[in-house]
Amino acid sequence: QAKAQGRNQWCLFDPQMQIQLEHHAALTAALRDAVRLEQLALHLQPQMNAAGQLVGAEALLRWRHPVHGQVAPDLFIALAEAAGTIVPIGNWVLQQACLQLQAWSRQPELRGLKLSVNVSARQFKQADFSARVLRLMQRHGLDASRLVLELTESMLIDDIDDTVAKMRALHRHGVRFALDDFGTGYSSLSLLRELPLQVLKIDRSFVRDVAGDEGSATLVRAIVALAGSLGLQTIAEGVETSAQQAALLAQGCHGYQGYLFARPMPALRFLRWARLRARRAAAAPDSSTAA
Ligand code: C2E
Ligand code: MG
Ligand code: MG
Ligand code: MG
Repeated sequence: QAKAQGRNQWCLFDPQMQIQLEHHAALTAALRDAVRLEQLALHLQPQMNAAGQLVGAEALLRWRHPVHGQVAPDLFIALAEAAGTIVPIGNWVLQQACLQLQAWSRQPELRGLKLSVNVSARQFKQADFSARVLRLMQRHGLDASRLVLELTESMLIDDIDDTVAKMRALHRHGVRFALDDFGTGYSSLSLLRELPLQVLKIDRSFVRDVAGDEGSATLVRAIVALAGSLGLQTIAEGVETSAQQAALLAQGCHGYQGYLFARPMPALRFLRWARLRARRAAAAPDSSTAA
């Protein structure tokens, strides 16, 4: 086995790598208790439309461990996925998302917002995934059309029939679907047509250079045109500058998410942020933030 890896075999004895493996093993074990010990939190990042209005938020999971500290989502989600703990964690996320939507219904500034939730491959593959989501929404008295589920290309390709069936069952009740990180995976155009999707999220890597680099701008234009011809909306992720926003606007992109507007934040801060913004828009009806 080690020999088959050729030059890399000495890495098996690399102390740095050994330390990292042990760290990952410790994190994986700690993840099993993260829900029970209330170490998880959902942060919210605003999503704006082309007119600059707040239209929704993406829920982004945060894990703070008393010893390991704040762990990067890309790392702990991957570890949880590998260990299977992503299933109970994902269920907790969905439940929190429902509570969030309930809380929003009581706030005039937030009542109409959609909430996007990331779903992992293993979670989506559960046989009862659709039923579970619908049951949760019903139990919390929520209109299913306020929920957007974000899926990634790689998780959809290995059992298309099952994927389509699950998505249809949910979409029949109003749940919407976004394809996350679009452009980084391997999905074919026919797959895009087959899936009951409503939104393509343009990956941050294309947004980064959209204002300066002709190649990125061309790619973004092609993605927006493709989405349009399939009847899908587009949301750009990772919008950090007003130059990027302007370039995306010129391409006809529908939605905007990124540090330019706000970083992901705890629910209470999100409420304050939305209120402040609504008040400013009311005070300055000519600005692009006006309703
Ligand atoms: P994602 O779904 O593509 O989420 C967008 C990521 O981009 C988030 O990273 C967000 O904080 C970051 N981001 C947003 N705006 C900007 C910007 O302007 N500039 C830059 N540089 N970054 C920006 P985060 O929160 O670290 O999450 C990373 C990934 O972890 C997510 O990528 C998603 O795949 C996964 N994830 C997060 N929460 C959940 C969850 O509840 N369940 C599952 N299954 N996966 C999750
Ligand atoms: Mg996402
Ligand atoms: Mg994304
Ligand atoms: Mg991403």
